[in-house]
Amino acid sequence: MQTQPTASHFIGGAYVEDTAGTPIDVIYPATGEVIGRVHSATPAIIDQALTSARAAQAEWAAMTGTERGRILRRAADILRARNHELSVLETYDTGKPYQETSVADATSGADALEYFGGLAASLTGEHIPLGEDWVYTRREPLGVCVGIGAWNYPTQIACWKGAPALACGNTMVFKPSETTPLCALKVAEILHEAGAPAGVYNVVQGLGDVGAALVSEPRVDKVSLTGSVPTGRKVYAAAAAEMKHVTMELGGKSPLIIFDDADLENAVSGAIMGNFYSSGQVCSNGTRVFVQSGIKEAFLARLTERLGKAVIGDPQDPETSFGPMVSARQTEIVQGYIAKGQDEGARLVTGGKRVERDGFFLEPTVFADVTDDMTIAREEIFGPVMAVLDFEDEADVMARANDTEFGLAAGVFTRDLTRAHRVAAGFEAGTCFINSYNDAPVEAPFGGVKASGVGRENSKAAIEHYSQVKSVYVRMGDVEAPF
Ligand code: NAD
Repeated sequence: MQTQPTASHFIGGAYVEDTAGTPIDVIYPATGEVIGRVHSATPAIIDQALTSARAAQAEWAAMTGTERGRILRRAADILRARNHELSVLETYDTGKPYQETSVADATSGADALEYFGGLAASLTGEHIPLGEDWVYTRREPLGVCVGIGAWNYPTQIACWKGAPALACGNTMVFKPSETTPLCALKVAEILHEAGAPAGVYNVVQGLGDVGAALVSEPRVDKVSLTGSVPTGRKVYAAAAAEMKHVTMELGGKSPLIIFDDADLENAVSGAIMGNFYSSGQVCSNGTRVFVQSGIKEAFLARLTERLGKAVIGDPQDPETSFGPMVSARQTEIVQGYIAKGQDEGARLVTGGKRVERDGFFLEPTVFADVTDDMTIAREEIFGPVMAVLDFEDEADVMARANDTEFGLAAGVFTRDLTRAHRVAAGFEAGTCFINSYNDAPVEAPFGGVKASGVGRENSKAAIEHYSQVKSVYVRMGDVEAPF
């Protein structure tokens, strides 16, 4: 497959190159080989993208919601029709197994385009009667939105931000992660092919400095970031200086509580989905796995057995179920955490080493006897490392589960329905799961509380974050003035 993109950027409905920008090598995580090269956006490219997005916005917003929606839904159809090609590309970009990308990336992006395409026509204001007078509200776009992506879901993030933004009549400049620059270009190309006018959805490449330049640009009305908490703090502060709207989808260290009465096999499946899918590079992962003492040894035994069945190998092979980390740097970071876990006295149950092959492969790793104060229980690792903690009592585990600056997600496995809902209500988290983990359908709001984020993606809730309401007061009689 051709992995070298036509050009680095997609602006005004066409691929655009400017080799004056810093080169960024695209590395296939499964081999460490360079498979492409893009150039970071220069100030001239950033200006061109924003000029283009600004110029297109009025025309795009003036189209009816039905027309905008039709284009988004057409883009969804193209994404689905090209799912195989896009999944192969996503696997080259991220290293995630084709087994995953073929069902979770272009398909999830298509879901977002289809869902928000469907909503576009129903984005209306309301009529508020006030005796003889009345107020009507208009739901208006914000203007030009900047999307900034993390590297773990490059197609999905480009669509999760683009679809609601465009449905509401905004235009977008999207900056993918410098680690995975390929997929967003395809999203831009497909939106254009589906009929989005030139400039409606643009992609520019770059490191954090390009993101920072976009965030502080006066021509930008909204910033939507998916990234780490430290980056989120910087972006939020820069956006606040200009009163820009923000959505912050940030990191997590989510709790997953497994009670004695849980269906063991299902709980093990949930823990695998919440720790090892995408080699653990999922923001909402339930990486603090609290297991009640009565089920702990059985849980660890069955988990180890199931992890032994992971097929580690070439991620393009449909049989492979566990791929590499995204980069050499991320592999080193995760290895550092594994060493810390051992130094601080956690018991290594399985894994812990690099896999003997090219690329950035790490074994699925499980630590038991982890205590709340250990680094691996407090910090986001963003790799295939599970920390298993013991607990006896519900009230105690709830206090411990919530004792974190993060609040992205949380899960509980139990057969006791009353307890399940009580626990879900008690979680300080934006997205919770009962007897499941890491489902993210477009119909449901997704996002975090506390340091994990601001705002919500997906669902009707996202509309609130990509539009604003204008009130128009209409007086039917004369104005009564005091003098
Ligand atoms: P990161 O914070 O290093 O980078 C994210 C993006 O921000 C990149 O595109 C980067 O170039 C850009 N950036 C960096 N500094 C910037 C600045 N000062 N101004 C503007 N942009 C800047 O994150 P990452 O390592 O790419 O991704 C992993 C992180 O993303 C993890 O913490 C993970 O939990 C989080 N994440 C969150 C979600 C979610 O939906 N909540 C989803 C995926 C990933």
